Amino acid sequence: MSTGRGPVGPPDGTRVPRYAGWSTFARLPRLDEVDHADVLIVGVPFDSGVSYRPGARFGPAHIRQSSRGLRAYNPELGVAPFALQQVADAGDIACNPFDLLEAIGQIEAGARELSSSGARLVTLGGDHTIALPLLRVVAERHGPVALVHFDAHLDTWDTYFGAPYTHGTPFRRASEEGLIDQERSLHVGIRGQLYREHDLSEDERLGYRIITCPEIERFGLAAAIDKALGRLGRGPVYVSVDIDVLDPAHAPGTGTPEAGGMTSRELLAMVRELAELELVGADVVEVAPAYDHAELTGIAAAHVAYEIISAMGFAPGRTA
Ligand code: MN
Ligand code: MN
Repeated sequence: MSTGRGPVGPPDGTRVPRYAGWSTFARLPRLDEVDHADVLIVGVPFDSGVSYRPGARFGPAHIRQSSRGLRAYNPELGVAPFALQQVADAGDIACNPFDLLEAIGQIEAGARELSSSGARLVTLGGDHTIALPLLRVVAERHGPVALVHFDAHLDTWDTYFGAPYTHGTPFRRASEEGLIDQERSLHVGIRGQLYREHDLSEDERLGYRIITCPEIERFGLAAAIDKALGRLGRGPVYVSVDIDVLDPAHAPGTGTPEAGGMTSRELLAMVRELAELELVGADVVEVAPAYDHAELTGIAAAHVAYEIISAMGFAPGRTA
C-alpha cells in the first residue's frame, strides 16, 4: 500500500528474486495497491484485427513475464523511473473477441476511465487496431497529437476485405477523425513491399512523413533522430510501437514479420531521445508469443516500454 512517502516501486531485486512474486509489469504494484498513479501500464489482450498470423492477444501476459528482469535505475537517461513518478499496473481491459466494433468501444471506455485521473497510459497489446481507440481518448484531452509510429508497415490502408477497422488501418482512421496533428506526425522503420505505388502518396496526404529502414542504414541513426525530433516539434506526442519495426532476428514473435528491420539497440536509442518531448501516452503492440523464442520479442517489448516510462519521468509534462 502507498505510505505517503513517495512512489511505491517494485520489491528490491537484491532481496526478492526478480523471478518471484506477482507477474505485474516490472513487478510494480497493482493499481489497487496505490493511492494514485502518474503512469499506468494496461494490457489489451485483443487480436481480432490481424491480417496474417494471430496470437497478439497473449502479448500483455508475455511482456509482463519478460519484464521481470527490469531494474530500478536507467543510467542512459539518469532517471529512476519508478521513483520519479508512481507507476502501477492496471491489469487488462477485457474486450469482446467476436465483435470488433464492440471491442473498440470497450478499449476506448476502459482507457478513458483509467486516464480520467490524469494518469498517462502505456498500453501493452494486442494487435495494432487498439491504437485507434487509445488515440481517441488522448485527443479528447489534448486535441490532435503528434504521432510517432514505429512499425515496418504504414498502417494507413483503407480497408481489408471491406473492413475499415483492422490492424492495418488505425492511422488512416486516426487522421480522418482528426486525432493526429498532420504537421507533426511520422512513421519510423518502414520497409518491405506495399500493395501499390500510390500507398505512399496516400499516406503523405493523410499527414504523415516517413523515415524508412534503408534511410537509417544510409544516413545513420543520428540523422534519423534529428529528422524525427524536427518533425515532432513542441506539443503533445503519442508513441505507438509495433514490435515488428524490429528485424525478425530481434523480434521473431510477431504477426507480420518483415526482413531488414531495426535492431533493438537502434529502437531503444530512438525511444530514449523522446525524453525531451511531452509524451502523453504510448502503446507497444503486436507481440505474439507463440512465434517467440527465448523471450527475445517479449524482452525487447518490455525494454521499449521501460524506456518510454523513463522518458515520461524525464519529460516536461510529468506530474511527479
Ligand atoms: Mn507492423
Ligand atoms: Mn502496425
